[in-house]
Amino acid sequence: MSALLPLESRHTTGVIRDYRWEKVNIIGFYNDTRVILDKIDHNFSCEVHDFLCCDNNHLFDIDIYYNEIVLALTQAANFNIPKVPKNAMKHYWSITLDELKGYSLSRYRIWVAAGEPKQGISLMI
Ligand SMILES: [Zn+2]
Repeated sequence: MSALLPLESRHTTGVIRDYRWEKVNIIGFYNDTRVILDKIDHNFSCEVHDFLCCDNNHLFDIDIYYNEIVLALTQAANFNIPKVPKNAMKHYWSITLDELKGYSLSRYRIWVAAGEPKQGISLMI
């Protein structure tokens, strides 16, 4: 476990945050997942193959392994996926509305840069 990177975006304020998967850095996420998972190293030496193993040490190893995988995926997500407070998300908002808002803002900036004309081509854009 000590080979893993520390959690950087852990929030201690109690604010529940949601991942914005539509804004994921997918290449970074895949790369960080690979790098972090590669640091997990376990050598299980269980000789039980034909029935369930009940050795508590082996069961504990599996729990540790599971938690390391979850932590690795969480770290990769925290490094590459923006998060916002859950109450900041509007239930009616969508990716399409994000695109339209961005388009509207860019056209507004063009209009302002043109001196906020009351007529002319910058109003037609
Ligand atoms: Zn076992």
